[in-house]
Amino acid sequence: MKTSTRLNIALAAIATGIALPAFAQDKVLNLYSARHYQTDEVVYETFTRTTGIKINRVDADDAGIVARLRAEGAASPADVVLLVDAARMAAADAQGLFQPIKSAKLDAAIPANLRAAPTADGVTWTGFSTRARVIVYDPTRVKPEDVATYEQLADPKLKGMVCTRSGSHPYNLSLFATVVERVGDQKGEAWLKGIVDNMARAPKGGDTDQIRAVASGECGVAITNTYYYARLLKSSKPEDKAVTDKVRVVFPNQGTSGTHVNIAGAAVAKHAKNRDNAIAFMEFLASPFAQDYFANGNNEFAAAKGVKVDNPALRAIGGDDFKPETVPLASVAKNLTKVQQMLDRVGFK
Ligand code: FE
Repeated sequence: MKTSTRLNIALAAIATGIALPAFAQDKVLNLYSARHYQTDEVVYETFTRTTGIKINRVDADDAGIVARLRAEGAASPADVVLLVDAARMAAADAQGLFQPIKSAKLDAAIPANLRAAPTADGVTWTGFSTRARVIVYDPTRVKPEDVATYEQLADPKLKGMVCTRSGSHPYNLSLFATVVERVGDQKGEAWLKGIVDNMARAPKGGDTDQIRAVASGECGVAITNTYYYARLLKSSKPEDKAVTDKVRVVFPNQGTSGTHVNIAGAAVAKHAKNRDNAIAFMEFLASPFAQDYFANGNNEFAAAKGVKVDNPALRAIGGDDFKPETVPLASVAKNLTKVQQMLDRVGFK
């Protein structure tokens, strides 16, 4: 039976209050999600309405989901796993928690650099929304031309000014891994050492804390994901507005390699019992409809080719038209351990 026929029967059954036929009841998808946004609900509900596949969701943070998958092993009911950041996807993949899939729809919709490296068996993880890792600075202390690139974060000109969250946080590991991929090991490590030498304080807090610390004058320059800045811009609290008034945003490396972009992504779980449903769900996530909700829920950009999300806060900081990095996020998987060792050597906490 065609999906559309089944859907019509299911919808008719719902409308008339008749018990659903067995095939509809059997259609389930177990989703383990580290994303928790209201707009995601619309995506899930629409998927269920259009396919008849019911979604059972387990919500936890990224580390909690990975721990649960490991503990459950082959008995895990998980079909699709949603995690945030390529470094986390890569680490979970390296632990054998995902399985490769083949999908012509995903191949066509999602740029290859936002996915795991393909093998003969297919691709494990796929990005479904993107965020840029940008530089924020205090315009009273720093000139925009002095923070136009990630490389300049290591320039002695910025001595005593740079603030960042922990170097080992996945957001930083992913950025550093793509820089190392681009400039090589030696230059990459020297760059990390240069950032450490320029720090205003030891790494602490999250990205929003760095933005606030630039506004307060404690830091001159910091690194943040775009959605944290967009959240402050959209906030109704006067103290948040005061922060964004004092801070400027730069999309780094526009004249060269492009700004580092990361993902929220999904993969089919290693022991998925509902594999076809899992692939159908991921294909649905790549649709323009789902992309809009999925990206906007966290002030992110769409991952699918040709899909633009309308978000005033992102537009306000220049997010409508910037050059993204094209270094494959698969290089994060390759360089993760190496970068962590470099951070240890240069004392990047
Ligand atoms: Fe975040």
